[in-house]
Amino acid sequence: MKVLVAVKRVVDANVKVQVKSDGSAVDLNNVKMSINPFDEIAVEEAVRLKEAGVATEVIVVSAGAAQAQETLRTALAIGADRAILIETNEELQPLAVAKLLKAIVDKEQPQLVILGKQAIDDDSNQTGQMLAALANMPQATFASKIAISDGNATVTREVDGGSETLSLQLPAVVTTDLRLNEPRYVTLPNIMKAKKKPLEKTTPSDLEVDVTPRLKTLRVAEPPTRSAGVKVPDVKTLVEKLKTEAKVL
Ligand code: AMP
Repeated sequence: MKVLVAVKRVVDANVKVQVKSDGSAVDLNNVKMSINPFDEIAVEEAVRLKEAGVATEVIVVSAGAAQAQETLRTALAIGADRAILIETNEELQPLAVAKLLKAIVDKEQPQLVILGKQAIDDDSNQTGQMLAALANMPQATFASKIAISDGNATVTREVDGGSETLSLQLPAVVTTDLRLNEPRYVTLPNIMKAKKKPLEKTTPSDLEVDVTPRLKTLRVAEPPTRSAGVKVPDVKTLVEKLKTEAKVL
């Protein structure tokens, strides 16, 4: 069983991003970039399926600038077998990415496609759902457990206040949630091995996909800064202030 995993290069989760002074976008100059955390979980899950003898090949795919190769190499170091870079300097919105992934799905015919539930830069939470619709595949989003048997995937999903378990016929699309697994630490020997694994390059025009943006960002703003708090000498004063100043009691 082939597993295809989509990985995006995003601003590292530990970076405190800053908005450009003209409010047009987040400033990406000299900012550390990493694999999207939910995609790292997706790669880990695919590699575990291979180690368990369920998957035969794990292919990772990323769409974006040439630097996305670093992200693909990280995924190869986790244990993926080969990588595909869809190289473009165009802005890619979720529908465009879903169309590009659909073109790769048509070519590679994977039985399972795993994506992150969302990219932590745009927080769209759309690509997996759109890909499932375009590829006419069943989907299970926010997965916290995946089991494969007899041509079916049994997926436990994180839903508000509990979980839901679905059975999907393969081929299917699954998006990962945080509790699916804890990705392994990538070792130096595996980073070295990853450098030798195959990485194929293609472009949106090779795949005959129009990636023209459909949405226009009007403004990006920082969250409002919190004003400083005050120290109160005792509980009586606190209750008084909550009543008279904050008016929450
Ligand atoms: P989003 O819908 O943008 O929140 O992204 C959801 C998931 O789609 C991500 O976690 C990735 O698995 C995948 N994805 C989004 N953008 C890209 C991209 N440029 N290249 C590869 N995968 C992507």
